[in-house]
Amino acid sequence: MSDTILAAEPTIRIIAFLSVLAAMALWEVAAPRRRRDIPRVIRWTNNLALVVLDTAILRLTFPILAVGLAAMAEDRGWGLFNNIEAPVWVAIVVSMLLLDLAIYLQHVMFHAVPGLWRLHRMHHADLDFDATTGLRFHPVEILISMGIKLAVVATLGPPAVAVLLFEVTLNATALFNHANIELPRPVDRILRWIVVTPDMHRVHHSVDPSETNSNFGFNLPWWDRLLGTYVAQPKKGHKSMEIGIKQFRTRRDLWLDRMLIQPLRGPASGGALDAASQQMRSSSVSSGQTKLGNDQIDQ
Ligand SMILES: [Zn+2]
Ligand SMILES: [Zn+2]
Repeated sequence: MSDTILAAEPTIRIIAFLSVLAAMALWEVAAPRRRRDIPRVIRWTNNLALVVLDTAILRLTFPILAVGLAAMAEDRGWGLFNNIEAPVWVAIVVSMLLLDLAIYLQHVMFHAVPGLWRLHRMHHADLDFDATTGLRFHPVEILISMGIKLAVVATLGPPAVAVLLFEVTLNATALFNHANIELPRPVDRILRWIVVTPDMHRVHHSVDPSETNSNFGFNLPWWDRLLGTYVAQPKKGHKSMEIGIKQFRTRRDLWLDRMLIQPLRGPASGGALDAASQQMRSSSVSSGQTKLGNDQIDQ
């Protein structure tokens, strides 16, 4: 069983990735949510080049990735689910939930620890917000994430199929929830109880640190609601809010070489534990409450 999954994994991944990316690109043309500030050619070329680089570095660094390790754990009896008698569907559902919680907690940690924020802020430094933003992660962040995921898989012993389903779903939802697409408000309001929607995740890409440090979920929206990091809408509204972070705002910063050296540049400001951004947060929360009424919030 796990041999079949491993053999099919590359094909399933690439077909799912390319079809969701193509669907989002078409949807963005047909019904965009915001006007683009930066020509697509600059961002798409560099963001897609980064994905190719990230994938190559990941494959060259790790001898085994998450699905492979899950299959190995099944064979050798490693981890929780390979040592208890649970129906396979329970193991699949619980594993997918716990993997998603792990990704949420990891994302919070990348915002809270200054050295990790230096790596992760590159994801936030994109000056527009579209499907390719969802692919923009520093290679060192990708390696650390995989290390954490491998540790979770070794401990949990999830079925290999659960890990494959989780990774393919996460890849698809990341493309979807970064997409610059217009969803009717009632649809967004219902959908965001089930999956992180573009309007929900866009708040996380706001230049305002109180919004940058909210909505950490990539896939399921429940962790933010349960753990107190949920912000429903950006204070300035979706059309007027500023995307990105304060530090890197030139077009040159969007090029691949600049993205790669960004962790070494400037102070690690803007993260969740940064004192200056906390001050801004308390002042912007109070001014947000006085200046804006609720009717403006999901515009
Ligand atoms: Zn983030
Ligand atoms: Zn994002």
